[in-house]
Parts: sequence; C-alpha cells; structure tokens
Amino acid sequence: MTTAARRIRLILMLRQAGVTDPRVLSAIELVPREAFVPDVFRDQAYENTALPIGHGQTISKPVVVGLMTQALEVGDRMKVLEVGAGSGYQTAVLARLCRRVYSIERHRPLLIEAEARLQALKLRNVTMMYGDGAEGWPAVAPFDRIIACAAAREVPAALADQLAEGGVLVLPVGTARDSQRLVRVRRTSDGFRTEELVKAHFVPLVDGAAVESGTLTAGLGSG
Ligand code: SAH
Repeated sequence: MTTAARRIRLILMLRQAGVTDPRVLSAIELVPREAFVPDVFRDQAYENTALPIGHGQTISKPVVVGLMTQALEVGDRMKVLEVGAGSGYQTAVLARLCRRVYSIERHRPLLIEAEARLQALKLRNVTMMYGDGAEGWPAVAPFDRIIACAAAREVPAALADQLAEGGVLVLPVGTARDSQRLVRVRRTSDGFRTEELVKAHFVPLVDGAAVESGTLTAGLGSG
C-alpha cells in the first residue's frame, strides 16, 4: 500500500472514531506522521497505534491526537500551550490550526529531535522549551488553549491559572492507566467548568525536568 493510500485509510479511521471536524482532519492529513517515528517503525506510521520514541515515551495514537485536538476547539488566531511535546507530532498538528504553539518537554533529547522535525517541515510558529510543563509557561501566559499529552493526578493549578478567560484546557487525568479520563476545563468569567470526556491511556506527567546522563545532554549541559 502506498503512503498516500495509508494516509487516506487513517483519515477514514479517524472519522469512524468520531473525529469529524474538517479543520482537524485536514491538519492531520497534512502532517507526515512517518517523519515523527523512529525509522524502524516507519511502515507502521499510519496505523492507529502509539509507537515508542525513546526515553520510555510514545508518540500518541492518531485517534487520540484527533479526539484531543477536536476537544480543544482551536481557532486560527489562538495561542496554544502544549505540555509534553514528545515526538512533536501533536505540536505539528496544532501548528497548522492556530497562530502560535508553545510546547514544553522534560526530556531534552526528545525536544531537540522534535524541534528539528518541525524545522524540516517549515512549521515556524512553534516555540519549544525544556522544562517541567506542569508549571506552565508564565512568561508567555495567558493561553487561549492548553493541551497536556501526559496524565496528571489532578488538573495542575498552574495550567488552569494560565488559561485566558474563555480558554480551554484538555488533558488526561488519573493515575492508573485504566482509570484515566480525558478532561476538558473551561475558564469562564466566574471560575472553571470541568467535563469528563472519554477514557484515556497516557504516560504519566512526571514532576520536574529530566536530567539525562547520555553523551548528548552531557555535551549540551543539563538543567
Ligand atoms: N503528543 C506527543 C506525546 C508524547 S508522550 C506525541 O505524540 O509524540 C508525553 C510526553 O510528555 C513525553 O514526551 C514526556 O516526556 C512528556 N512529559 C511528561 N511529564 C512532563 C512534564 N512534567 N513536563 C513536560 N513534559 C512532560
């Protein structure tokens, strides 16, 4: 099967899974997922599965990216914060839908690879930072939208605080992998409104930035 045919099959799969927003579908269609997975998994890039990207992390399932992006209700004038860039795939999809994406990743080697991929795809409206995303990015807050791609025990207060009024935060909440839920928090003029969406299975949101001992980070300095 050709890459083009695999992509079309994936889009059909997303529609069946409830991703119906045409803007989201076309953003996903325009991002080459094979550029975000390790070479050995390239032939599986358009399957609806999460794949390992190193450091114990995974690139999210396409259906999950689709459903989360749709739940985020992203508009093209918006400023979006992403927590957990990972491979940069979700970042790339967001970059096609909004004005500017800020993305935080706690594994520096993943961040460096993700940045290189986005540059190669000429997605220039993305700014990335190494650090603990649970603290948000106060220097550029508030955000119209915030998405976290790792599961927190509860909604991190710093993220809710950095939402603009009318803003939306989407993230998986829960500890055990089988009890996680995707949650959407809306900031209104008088507080926050929280809804539970579908079940989720994410890697955990980990406290603090990682300090790798590999030669790559040693050479670049860590922390
Ligand atoms: N959307 C990404 C998902 C990556 S998995 C993709 O499709 O590739 C989640 C990512 O969140 C991992 O890379 C993990 O390192 C990162 N992460 C976990 N806790 C974090 C934290 N506190 N701050 C920043 N990134 C975090």
